[in-house]
Amino acid sequence: MTTPPRQVAILGAGPVGLDAALACADAELPFTVYEAGATVGAHVAAWGHVRLFTPWSMNLSPRMRTHLPDPPEGAICPTGTELWDSVLRPLAAGPALAGRIRLAHRVMAVGRTGLLKHEEISTAARAAAPLRLLIDGPGGEQVHSADLVLDCTGTYGQPNPTGEGGIAAPGETGLGERIVRTLPPLDTDRDRARWRGTVLLVGAGKSAQTAARSLAALPGTRLHWVIRDPDPGWGEIRGDALPGRQDLVDTARRLAAGDNARVTVHTGATIQSLHADHGRVRALLGSPHGPRELLVDHLLSLTGYVGDAGLYRQLQVHECYATAAPMNLSATLLDTAVSDCLAQPAVGVDALRTPEPGFFVLGAKSYGRLSTFLLRVGYEQVDQIIGSYTPQNVSTAQPVPPR
Ligand SMILES: Cc1cc2nc3c(=O)[nH]c(=O)nc-3n(C[C@H](O)[C@H](O)[C@H](O)COP(=O)(O)OP(=O)(O)OC[C@H]3O[C@@H](n4cnc5c(N)ncnc54)[C@H](O)[C@@H]3O)c2cc1C
Repeated sequence: MTTPPRQVAILGAGPVGLDAALACADAELPFTVYEAGATVGAHVAAWGHVRLFTPWSMNLSPRMRTHLPDPPEGAICPTGTELWDSVLRPLAAGPALAGRIRLAHRVMAVGRTGLLKHEEISTAARAAAPLRLLIDGPGGEQVHSADLVLDCTGTYGQPNPTGEGGIAAPGETGLGERIVRTLPPLDTDRDRARWRGTVLLVGAGKSAQTAARSLAALPGTRLHWVIRDPDPGWGEIRGDALPGRQDLVDTARRLAAGDNARVTVHTGATIQSLHADHGRVRALLGSPHGPRELLVDHLLSLTGYVGDAGLYRQLQVHECYATAAPMNLSATLLDTAVSDCLAQPAVGVDALRTPEPGFFVLGAKSYGRLSTFLLRVGYEQVDQIIGSYTPQNVSTAQPVPPR
């Protein structure tokens, strides 16, 4: 067991940050949670209209259950809003976390007091210097310190660009907020009216599949869906235990087969340029069949998200050049590569270590560009880290339910 920290800083009050906070409370470790948003679970609230494909039984840690008076159970898959309303908000207001969460406090950077990134490679010497956090809050910028920092800031605030090769296409940056980069709500008439006309959707992952399914159902919407892969597999898992996930794959496959006259799926295509044109947007597509121009009213880019590595630029965090996840974890995940995120083995605390002592990246951010992260994995990570400081105090991770 490592010497218990004197002060823990938890960055981000998403599901994993809140679970880490509960683990600290249970273990009687002093901690503070810094949340950039005006509410806990700000990212989950932003995609609140989306239904998760994992059920309640997988979306809460055992620890969360013990801290909630009436924890939701069972096989129903909640929406993000339901998770936020029934779990995240009540946990934040409960006695274990009351007064410990600082909302509207964005962590801008983390460094080491008295040490630059390159100055010391001895773990003991670095561990002796407290971690130093620059925090932007309602009272202005301040410095706080901690000897254990858990970066649970997620990825949803950092969308990838739209252009070929993962970089912005010419003209993309100039379009600014005309490009929507988060899953749009389509629940009300007003929401749906916003997407009337021709829509260009870019991306092939679960978010893009969700958006395509919803937009394809709107009678006033003509959808062009651009997908890089000439023969997309849609992330299908044979005999998928999660019906919600399988339904997305089935719908994407039907749309690609041309079963909806208002939808054209451009496989093997990339975005070469994007320019404003008399209130619309002219998109140049590259494809094996040659270039093609489209004139569209709306642009929806769902090309994935990756966490903000700038936060720990001054620390010795070794990132994988392929996934942008911390190196040890990335190597372990690639080594045990499984296409079904339900089948992921627990990785152990050593895989979560970075060369920087006392600094860990947890939750969705810890997976970098890998899209297999599940809440369940984040709760296991919390168990492993806090358990390495106080093994007697933490609960065990939730087992994977049988198929
Ligand atoms: C649309 C969608 C559907 C998903 N569906 C599922 C599903 O069905 N099942 C599943 O298991 N997983 C699902 N996931 C994946 C994953 O579980 C979620 O992304 C989950 O929210 C990750 O939790 P987290 O706590 O790691 O990060 P987040 O929920 O992203 O929380 C991060 C928090 O950190 C805050 N923050 C960010 N930057 C800073 C900063 N600099 N300083 C302070 N605070 C900061 C944010 O405001 C946010 O509140 C889904 C993800 C998305 C986007």
